[in-house]
Amino acid sequence: MKKLLRVMKFGGTSVGDASCIARVAQIVTEASRQGLVVAVVSAMGGVTNRLIEAARRAEAGDLEHAHRIFQALRKQHDAAVSELIHDPSRRTWVSGCLGTIFAEGEQLCKGTSLLHELTPRTLDTVSSLGERLSAPMVAAVLEELGVRSEAVEATELIVTDSFHGGADPIMEVTRERSRARLRPLLDRGIIPVATGFIGATENGVLTTLGRGGSDYSATILGAALDADEIIIWTDVDGVLTADPRLVKEARTIPEISYREATELAYFGAKVLHPKTLRAVEQAGIPVWIRNSFAPERPGTKITPKGRTNGGGVKALTAIRDVALITVGGPGIVGLPDVVGRTFSTTAELKANVLLISQSSSQNDICFLVATEDARRTVEALRKEFAQDVAHEKVEHITLDPNIAIVAVVGENMRGTPGVAARTFSSVARENVNLIAIAQGSSESNISFVVAEKDMKTALQAAHREFGLGAPILAEPAVKVC
Ligand code: ASP
Ligand code: MG
Repeated sequence: MKKLLRVMKFGGTSVGDASCIARVAQIVTEASRQGLVVAVVSAMGGVTNRLIEAARRAEAGDLEHAHRIFQALRKQHDAAVSELIHDPSRRTWVSGCLGTIFAEGEQLCKGTSLLHELTPRTLDTVSSLGERLSAPMVAAVLEELGVRSEAVEATELIVTDSFHGGADPIMEVTRERSRARLRPLLDRGIIPVATGFIGATENGVLTTLGRGGSDYSATILGAALDADEIIIWTDVDGVLTADPRLVKEARTIPEISYREATELAYFGAKVLHPKTLRAVEQAGIPVWIRNSFAPERPGTKITPKGRTNGGGVKALTAIRDVALITVGGPGIVGLPDVVGRTFSTTAELKANVLLISQSSSQNDICFLVATEDARRTVEALRKEFAQDVAHEKVEHITLDPNIAIVAVVGENMRGTPGVAARTFSSVARENVNLIAIAQGSSESNISFVVAEKDMKTALQAAHREFGLGAPILAEPAVKVC
């Protein structure tokens, strides 16, 4: 009989320190009694940020600072190793692995500081070190518990394109490599602990899948291995109806659809990397979000179709690290191709456009990008439209960073009249001004732009309006006659 296969990913907070790693090892051990497990691990919480900082300091010539970061990271990892791994030869082995990885990091920073240049390729290699450090630690802790385990670097498994900092997998080859490398381990009763976040090009050059990309690693491996389910273990109970720091009545949603989860991920609900579900779309593998600090809670199940909660709206989300860019002036009505040129410019910069709105008067086009992309986008647009501004065809290209997007999400909003009206009147009752509005034709997301200071009020108003804080009805019991 085919054994149940689960891919379990543990995020940065779940492997944040020795006690967290011990909890992870318990969860994996428990699951391994029920079937096969492939673990995927992130770097310990905050480590990737520190590594990137070290690389940037090195680029600026401050090698001393980079060195201090590495020292602190060594201390953090050594502390976890000495608390968790007691077998002397195993401890020597893990310490050796970590030492080699740290030496590589310092070496890379040295080169970077000499050249005063940090290429995307080097940055990927430095940022990957955190995962490469945590995988052998977790594998060794499992072995301490008597569970056979082996750390595997995902450069051996996930083959990607060469887009450093946000690579995408090439699934066919990934499938072949992952199976060839992991199946024999599983067959021998060994739990592979793979590094999240990273892959390699066909030529073996290391790439990363983008910040927070370990979720994506888990679904890529899940799809490659035809897993029965994927569990993303994190530090929250699942997907919530809203951010509980902003809306205290927020609740965990028992089941949502791939589409809903993706909409939420794009719009700031930090539980899931936005690309995560792409990898499993075809196979329809269920993906769970669960809390490694409260494994007894059921979490959220993400399935192809989800489950209705009775109303159209499932959840709300908001992002504040965004900026509004407007290209406008009455002259643009007659100007062909403003839209085309605007978005070719953003495309060239690979700026992530989150929302677009243009009124039929065509007086201006406004769109939102992540704050980190804002300045260079405006600069590039000013260059692109320099002639038109000079001839007063384009009057202004402006940037407003003090705004936020709020999105109302739910697959069953499609065809349910009145969701937009209810959303906007609930917000209007609180005197919140709407700056721009967008609803995609998929109708599973209504997004609106408000001043940043109004974001919380808008979220609370809509959450109340759609009764999202009310207990979620359990599925009607099936009557057995
Ligand atoms: N460690 C990586 C990051 O911080 C990947 C991840 O945690 O998912 O972005
Ligand atoms: Mg994450």
